[in-house]
Amino acid sequence: MAEYDYDLFVIGAGSGGTRAARVSASYGAKVAVAEEYRVGGTCVIRGCVPKKLLVYGSHFSEELEDGKNFGWTWENARFDWPTLRDHILKDVDRLNNAYTETLKNHDVEVILERAELTGPHEIKLGDGRTVTAKYILIAVGAWPAVAEFPGSEHMSTSNEMFHLEKLPETVIISGGGYIANEFAGIFNGLGSEVTVVNRSDIILRGYDESVRDRLIQISLAKGISYKFNCHFDKIEKREDGALDVYMDGHDEPVRADVVLAATGRRPKIEGLGLENAGVRINDSDAIIVDEYSQTNVDNIYAVGDVTDRVQLTPIAIREGQAFADTVFGDNPRTVDYDNIPSAVFSQPPIASVGLTEGEAREKYGNIKVYSSDFRAMRNVFADRTERSLYKMIVEHPTEKILGLHMIGPDAPEILQAAAIAVKAGLTKQAFDDTVALHPSMAEELVLFK
Ligand code: NDP
Repeated sequence: MAEYDYDLFVIGAGSGGTRAARVSASYGAKVAVAEEYRVGGTCVIRGCVPKKLLVYGSHFSEELEDGKNFGWTWENARFDWPTLRDHILKDVDRLNNAYTETLKNHDVEVILERAELTGPHEIKLGDGRTVTAKYILIAVGAWPAVAEFPGSEHMSTSNEMFHLEKLPETVIISGGGYIANEFAGIFNGLGSEVTVVNRSDIILRGYDESVRDRLIQISLAKGISYKFNCHFDKIEKREDGALDVYMDGHDEPVRADVVLAATGRRPKIEGLGLENAGVRINDSDAIIVDEYSQTNVDNIYAVGDVTDRVQLTPIAIREGQAFADTVFGDNPRTVDYDNIPSAVFSQPPIASVGLTEGEAREKYGNIKVYSSDFRAMRNVFADRTERSLYKMIVEHPTEKILGLHMIGPDAPEILQAAAIAVKAGLTKQAFDDTVALHPSMAEELVLFK
């Protein structure tokens, strides 16, 4: 008889957990994964994927406007929220099934139950069963952090945005990060009145300043409002279901149909039984791990948002892969966190890799900044005033690229390819040596003067 029921028990079937489970099983391990909600995790079920579809859906309003000079007119164009919402939910169902099938095809046992650690090798499942495993991987992700103040329970989180019964006329968004700016663009595009309220005087902390400023400028022109250095005092629900939002600096409450809390995500460790196994966490509730994703308990590992290293899906996937290679593939591997490209799917989107101008100045002192501030050909033709901004930060005098920052149509699509060059340590000269692909927006990257 085997000493344990499983070689590996994974808690959480999100991006990191499913990759780790599938690859470990392909190395011959006997693997089970427990998931309390739906297979796929935040990214697939209530994050990146449905969000991107909402971005696409909302952007049609601009496409319709821009079509006029191209000779197109649309009579009686109108938007129907339930149609978009239900198609997205159907796609989420498809992906949930596809992820489940992939796990099963790799001989991973999928257990749709909540799991709680009851010891270093022991897990109690929601149905009352107790199972044992040689290794345990915690990949339970993170959960929206909602500030507490009178009436804060009336706020929604990104989780609920995909299920709204009707399109809100007015939306107030608390926070100025990824989720705030992405949903501001979505609701604005769909016709809602949007106000972004942040506690500080900036949005998208960590992104290059000029790119952030450009997003604010464009968003203001689209009708999105911002309130900075602003805090919520209380929220009251009216009889008609609308919300009265009391904020500092306002004598009168502001009415909103939806108040979205987008103020960060915290590791989802509640009820996980970490204390039963002696797994240590830090002040932000994140599980403490080493570079191999190993916790202080030798046989327990953790990957993804629950470790709060970099809260991005592709990172969780890499951590899951590295875990499987290390523990079951006889190939110890760590994840390289340098030069991670990232994007904000605002409208227009932002994409970035490497150091911002400010960070580069602080670290290297002697740097050079190249920039291109242009109006995409399509925008010029459509009478859209929106300008794109691309920035390349290089070390001086080597001209090694330290960072690339872009805001403009398709910026994430373009930056993914350019990020390879930055990761490879290329210089601006390599870009200069590359012939422009004309006419395109991306050619600006090889034409910096
Ligand atoms: P972010 O960390 O991006 O932004 C949080 C915002 O909320 C900041 O503006 C911050 O203010 C503010 N804030 C933080 N704490 C509080 C508080 N206690 N009270 C009031 N305001 C507060 O978080 P999001 O929720 O937008 O997204 C969570 C994470 O999910 C992101 O960090 C990202 O990793 C991931 N994500 C990635 C996406 C992508 O890759 N495109 C899309 C969506 C999410 P301040 O100005 O002080 O920083």
